Amino acid sequence: MNLILLGAPGAGKGTRAALIAAEYQIPHISTGDIFRQNIKEGTSVGLKAKAYMDQGKLVPDEVVIELVQSRLIKEDCKNGYLLDGFPRTLPQAEALDKITHIDVVIDVVADADLLAKRISGRRVCANAACGASYHVETYGGSVCGKCGGSVVQRDDDREEVFLARLAVYDAQTAPLVNYYAAKGILKAVDGLKNPPEAVRVLRAFEESKM
Ligand code: AMP
Repeated sequence: MNLILLGAPGAGKGTRAALIAAEYQIPHISTGDIFRQNIKEGTSVGLKAKAYMDQGKLVPDEVVIELVQSRLIKEDCKNGYLLDGFPRTLPQAEALDKITHIDVVIDVVADADLLAKRISGRRVCANAACGASYHVETYGGSVCGKCGGSVVQRDDDREEVFLARLAVYDAQTAPLVNYYAAKGILKAVDGLKNPPEAVRVLRAFEESKM
């Protein structure tokens, strides 16, 4: 299955993505993670992306579309994939439609006040291969319980940057909800409910297609 996870920053896409990718044995492709990895490695894509990311702005469509296009042709995508954080604009969604067929889009819905609280307290493992996520209210330590890496705050989770990301989401990404609803492939899940709900929704979707 070719899947997309939609949702505002902090809505809980990452947690659900990990569960879905494990359940369906498909790669979890997060454009944000790919950019962060490129920044760490100092690549030209990373250099281009960093200036936008640090301000909570979107990286230009052509940069991200090219990145996704080259990722989707890799061998591990041949039985499906889960896109997380892409598409984020209408031109990206239209470009994706030309590249591939999307079976279902999961929209993780969450209220803006909750998102602000989640994100300001969010801490992540700096080891990109691990990617564990914590909240200061439940874990205040600096060592990752999964891999022993350092637990840090993402630069773009700082409040001023987060608010900019939320505004960008409302203006540019939220319209994609209607875009996919009109195609009849949108399934909403509650960002407050337990993450496995997303897997159940997908299984029910598959059964409805049988
Ligand atoms: P994320 O981890 O998905 O929240 O992404 C972090 C940042 O990476 C975003 O705030 C953007 O600056 C950039 N980014 C990730 N995916 C995209 C995309 N599809 N289009 C444009 N910028 C993106």
